[in-house]
Amino acid sequence: MLYAPYASLRVIGHTHPQLRQQLSPMSYDTDVLIIGGGLAGLIAGIHLAQHDIRVILIEKYTYPQHKVCGEYVSNEVLPYLQQLGVDVDPLRPSRLHRFLFSTVSGKTVESELPLGGFGLSRHTFDHFLYQKATLAGVRVFQDQVIDVQFQNDGFNATTSDGQTYRSRVVIGAYGKRSVLDRQLHREFITKESPWIGVKAHYQADFPDELVSLHNFEGGYCGLCQVESNVVNACYLVNYNSFKKHKNIMAFQQHVLCRNPFLNDFFSKAVPLFEKPLTISQISFARKEPVEQHVLMCGDTAGVIHPLCGNGMAMAIHSAKLASELLIQFFRGNIASRPDLEKQYTAAWNHEFKKRLTTGRIIQAMLQNTALSAALFGSLQAIPSALPLIIKQTHGNPLVAR
Ligand SMILES: Cc1cc2nc3c(=O)[nH]c(=O)nc-3n(C[C@H](O)[C@H](O)[C@H](O)COP(=O)(O)OP(=O)(O)OC[C@H]3O[C@@H](n4cnc5c(N)ncnc54)[C@H](O)[C@@H]3O)c2cc1C
Repeated sequence: MLYAPYASLRVIGHTHPQLRQQLSPMSYDTDVLIIGGGLAGLIAGIHLAQHDIRVILIEKYTYPQHKVCGEYVSNEVLPYLQQLGVDVDPLRPSRLHRFLFSTVSGKTVESELPLGGFGLSRHTFDHFLYQKATLAGVRVFQDQVIDVQFQNDGFNATTSDGQTYRSRVVIGAYGKRSVLDRQLHREFITKESPWIGVKAHYQADFPDELVSLHNFEGGYCGLCQVESNVVNACYLVNYNSFKKHKNIMAFQQHVLCRNPFLNDFFSKAVPLFEKPLTISQISFARKEPVEQHVLMCGDTAGVIHPLCGNGMAMAIHSAKLASELLIQFFRGNIASRPDLEKQYTAAWNHEFKKRLTTGRIIQAMLQNTALSAALFGSLQAIPSALPLIIKQTHGNPLVAR
């Protein structure tokens, strides 16, 4: 049983640092502190802990949780996940190898997905990775980091529960937007963003090998099957299109359902959530992969337009990049923190900068009626161009070094 002063601490699986410090005083609570336990944070935690690096991960919410996400994961991550001992097969994800795109008027174009992917809910995926992380030795705490300061070649991070953690390195894996972005004076946080994400699960008749993307006025909606024959519908919409309608249901009925494909889906699908999940202020502005010595991973480093379906793979990939460099740093093969930061920035830009730019271009074309009609006309004339565009927004299969 925990000693009374610690009894109220929300600990997921491990001794709280306050208690641990009394048991074994150390100058650092941990080698690496990871802020945020989504895909990027959990994968970095697993990778580092498997190399005997001490990791504390702080996640704001308990597991499992639903998240606004299209839940299509590119197969490019599979070799790396297997190397980490993360086998998603027992979770019975859907196997996706066909892609279909429809216009507002219901015209469609279809192609094979070059690498294929799998459909797995974030509810299941994140929870599974959390279990893997604790098994690997990551100390996971439920709390919210509200302040992080770089001092004397290390970090002090403070949480909303009033805990302070001292670490040599901090990985920022806290997603699209957080109080920390303001505290770190990141530029994107000062600007409003009109993008809203909406997601819900449905019982519906939907091909299990298909991931589809459907255009509507002001946004687009992705559909794919996840585990347990459930279908995930997730859309991104501009607030200007949304605000004319009194609620989500009215918006779906009057705007999404003008697309015949979506009309057919929503008229027959049975919702499994009481109401859809929503997030707002999704920013696609440029961010830096290192801010005030914090190594940023996943959406914290940069958000790719969801129509590319590559944000999760990028989160996993960036965690791999950061982990591999950190292992070299802790072994003394990277001589200094500036070298570490320089190498991470270069690796991040090399892997992701082009993908983000391609995503921005496609997004801009889809928002413009004339350009999207031209794009669609070209794809209908030359369907083999579609897999080439998909390849531009995806990476190659990942293998750990
Ligand atoms: C509408 C939409 C559809 C999408 N569809 C797809 C798709 O089909 N395929 C795809 O690959 N990608 C898709 N994406 C992108 C994908 O969801 C993200 O890229 C991915 O979730 C990024 O993972 P992450 O680990 O960086 O962040 P997250 O999964 O957001 O994890 C961040 C975690 O940090 C925690 N946190 C935040 N602040 C703090 C704090 N201060 N202290 C402690 N914890 C904190 C949060 O609770 C959260 O659990 C979509 C995105 C949107 C918006």
